[in-house]
Amino acid sequence: MNNNSFPHDAFSKELAANDEYIKSFKYSGLTGVAQKGLAIVTCMDSRINPLSIMGMKSGDAKILRNAGARVTEDVLRTLVLATYLLGVKKILVMPHTNCRMASAEEADIHEHIQKEFGVDTRSLEFRTAKDQEKALAMDVSRIRAFPFLNKDVVVGGAIYDVTTGKITPVEC
Ligand SMILES: [Zn+2]
Repeated sequence: MNNNSFPHDAFSKELAANDEYIKSFKYSGLTGVAQKGLAIVTCMDSRINPLSIMGMKSGDAKILRNAGARVTEDVLRTLVLATYLLGVKKILVMPHTNCRMASAEEADIHEHIQKEFGVDTRSLEFRTAKDQEKALAMDVSRIRAFPFLNKDVVVGGAIYDVTTGKITPVEC
């Protein structure tokens, strides 16, 4: 097997599940416009299902995810496109409780990876958020202050509780 081939063995379960999924696929009529006018910036954490926690389905909202739900250059770039071209009128930045990115300092995570895997990751900025509410306030204001975004886009911050499913708005 050469390195260019698709790793079918590794993805066999996913491909089989998709074969089932397409049998009852019902979203072929959708466009890329967010039907509910919403974008959610959240963490990659596997406990968060951003659409279902707000009673939404495919086509309703734009979902942007990364480690810690941080507002990075790429998030801002994506939000500009989402607001001008894809119907987004409100943005919710939504980190969560029990987040690995809020449980340690940047240096601790680098040290952990170095110790466990022997890889020096210090040239990467993980953007940990030990003070989660402070980081959230900074991220929300980063979007609000971004000059390319429409002034009438509404931006809010909230924290998702992974043990109850509840979203708690944060004043910021
Ligand atoms: Zn997280």
